[in-house]
Amino acid sequence: MIFASLGASEEIGASCHFILVDGTGILLDAGSDPEQEGLSSLPDLARIHAQSNWHVDHAIVTHAHHDHLGSLPIVVKQFPHVNVHMSGATRQLADILLPASARLQRRKMQEGSSSSEPLFDEEDVNSSSYLYLSHDLETEFDLSGHGGGFEISGEFYDAGHVLGSLGVMIRCVDGGKQRSIFYTGDTGLNSQTIIPGARYPDEKVDVLLLESTLGADPEAENVSRRSEEKRLGESLARVLGRGGTVLIPVFALGRGQEMIALIDRYKSRGIIHEDVPVYTAGLMRALSEVYDKTRFTTPRLNEEFEVYGVPQKRLPRSQSGLNDAMQQPGILLVGSGMMFERTISNKIAQALIGNEKNGVFLVGFAREDSPAANLLLAREKGKGSEVILNPAKGTQIVNCDVERFRFSGHSHRRELLKLVEQMRPEKVVLVHGETKAKEWMADNIGFFYPEVEVITPKFGEVLEL
Ligand SMILES: [Zn+2]
Ligand SMILES: [Zn+2]
Repeated sequence: MIFASLGASEEIGASCHFILVDGTGILLDAGSDPEQEGLSSLPDLARIHAQSNWHVDHAIVTHAHHDHLGSLPIVVKQFPHVNVHMSGATRQLADILLPASARLQRRKMQEGSSSSEPLFDEEDVNSSSYLYLSHDLETEFDLSGHGGGFEISGEFYDAGHVLGSLGVMIRCVDGGKQRSIFYTGDTGLNSQTIIPGARYPDEKVDVLLLESTLGADPEAENVSRRSEEKRLGESLARVLGRGGTVLIPVFALGRGQEMIALIDRYKSRGIIHEDVPVYTAGLMRALSEVYDKTRFTTPRLNEEFEVYGVPQKRLPRSQSGLNDAMQQPGILLVGSGMMFERTISNKIAQALIGNEKNGVFLVGFAREDSPAANLLLAREKGKGSEVILNPAKGTQIVNCDVERFRFSGHSHRRELLKLVEQMRPEKVVLVHGETKAKEWMADNIGFFYPEVEVITPKFGEVLEL
């Protein structure tokens, strides 16, 4: 079996891996690099075209985050015969997210904030989405290819990362031998507020393709979700109690809905008053509808819970409406999670941070140098420190509370090690993580499971597994 990573290998980048099993080509994820634009955001599909015996029969999308889904329209364009497989929920989310991505690319070019031509338009996306095949969890489906002489099957397992997320088991006959490969995608082994933790097979595999996102994050293994939930509840109560407004910048898929569920819990337990208005906006609202529509057909902690069962208002579009909303105690759950310029969360933060009664609470990953990370850094220096959220606005003073809470949808590194124990692979291939993260994973797997061969693929490397 041949394996090659087509996205960046030293950072998170675009998730897209290629395997060739007995003549059948399978792409694992079709992501785009969220930090790049245009062609440079895409995985290196040219490497497949460059090899005469490489081709793509199937593509499997593990979940609807951009770094796993964003280049799917290009994959379909370049390999028109590809069979695309995903969960039913991911398919519904993709039907919202891919057209939104097309519109965003067009808008950025029209505004002049990007010089890249849009990679695809809404029509491209809509004309191929009906071709996507969805499969239930823990049900085998066919992955045989045109060139393959033997049967290959896939089976999805719940990954507990975000609605519709999955890991995939591929079973095949390779060189006359029965083999199995498990690809984790992004993995959350513990329950969140809406979705339960992953349910991966207790089965020995030959090859484990393992995500390593939090491999360099020692802090993650020392905080518990319960203590973070308690801390966030207390901080919300404090700011709202003194009449302040709280901004919680969120990612539209996953963290946003989980936060609404948590706020509902705070209200029902009397931690915050049930009349405190909660504002939501944009894409997140459309994605929340998919959460509700799929609540009986996807894994849930409580299938009675509906995101729209929690009272929420649409964030006013007009400046005056927005000003009114920020005049009184309330919670604003809006994107982007990292508060990039030209996003609503950035604009709202500009209006809130000068007043010490307000709060900005960060609940997701904020990459270094993002406005969210800069704001936190400034506030850590003390009240009255300076920050630039948007160069057009210039330097501002931070007087409000800025706090960070850990609610990752990824498992911390020691939990990922337990997966190695559970699946007892002969080989582990580390993917989806920065160099330091993979180093920690490789060292520790080597220490605890010396019989396992650990491979950290270098950029452009083709592995024979
Ligand atoms: Zn993800
Ligand atoms: Zn990811």
